[in-house]
Amino acid sequence: MSSADSFSGDYALARGKFRIAAAAAGAALASVTHPERGRDGEDLAADVAWIGPRDADKVLVTLSGTHGVEGFCGSGAQVDWLNRGEASRLPAGLGVLIIHAINPYGFSWLRRVTHENVDLNRNWVDFSGPLPANPGYDILCDAAVPQTWTEESQAASARVLGGYLGENGPAALQQALSGGQYRHPAGIFYGGSAPTWSRLTQTAIFAEYLGQAAKVGVIDYHTGLGPWGYGEQIITDHPGSAAFARARAWYGAAVTSPSAGTSTSAPITGDGLEAAPRLLPHAQVTGMAIEVGTLPLNDVLLALRADAWLHAHGDPDSPQGRAIKTQIRAAFFGDADDWKGMVAGQSLLATRQAIAGLTA
Ligand SMILES: [Zn+2]
Repeated sequence: MSSADSFSGDYALARGKFRIAAAAAGAALASVTHPERGRDGEDLAADVAWIGPRDADKVLVTLSGTHGVEGFCGSGAQVDWLNRGEASRLPAGLGVLIIHAINPYGFSWLRRVTHENVDLNRNWVDFSGPLPANPGYDILCDAAVPQTWTEESQAASARVLGGYLGENGPAALQQALSGGQYRHPAGIFYGGSAPTWSRLTQTAIFAEYLGQAAKVGVIDYHTGLGPWGYGEQIITDHPGSAAFARARAWYGAAVTSPSAGTSTSAPITGDGLEAAPRLLPHAQVTGMAIEVGTLPLNDVLLALRADAWLHAHGDPDSPQGRAIKTQIRAAFFGDADDWKGMVAGQSLLATRQAIAGLTA
């Protein structure tokens, strides 16, 4: 079996492959059912596999589908890890928690967001306090997701975005569009007005499985930024922190930091890796996001804007809707053997580095 066989072409296939591979590896399986149905009417769920002693105090957590449609990558990496027999080579006393499709709705519907149109990695904020402001997005909101999606409206939007780019530069434009915003519920990179189903589910899974853990390593799989097939290792902890130093010791000098400006990602608000230590105050948490490149950034942003327009104003079943679905799938899934092989190899290395770090 080649690594490419571990990847799937849609959510239902991915879920089936994951459950078969996890059972074959001797994992204890559980699932949390999602309230909505999938694009083909299928059941949606976040599936959970546990491997190793239930009271393990060192645990590796891998997480796929935080950003829905990016789940093709993380699912394939998780299934490949299981199919390779890595579970039979774990150090004594180590547990592995594999969370498959924490945002199953987005995976099935080929959306980066949840069914609430919320970016799960902007949703981990304290909704009882004032929410982060994003004045750049406020200026650009109508251009980011216009009322219509035609050649004319796209050209008009491109002029507005291009004007902002010319005045403020590419980093400021990326920050405004993707940093996170809490005022435009139909927009892109919307952080929501309350914890989403996916946040609540991840919180419950962490509480159920990680209460005994003293050391936790989290690998969260993402796609859409950077060169084709390259897995950038992004650390959201501040470069001066002990967590960043640990991640660098585990994964090497290539780790990057959005807050230090060395990442393809803009600094963001409300991401899940930054929230993980708050969910696990009893544990030492070392988080890392693998961000695998697909298409150029402009193509990825265009696909996201088209998809946001489609679900706010269009019909996903129309010919235009289906074309946009093809566009967004290609923006977040490198559906080719070389890309899948790069994902599997880089993920295998990262899991082994994390396990070595946890047990050092
Ligand atoms: Zn992502």
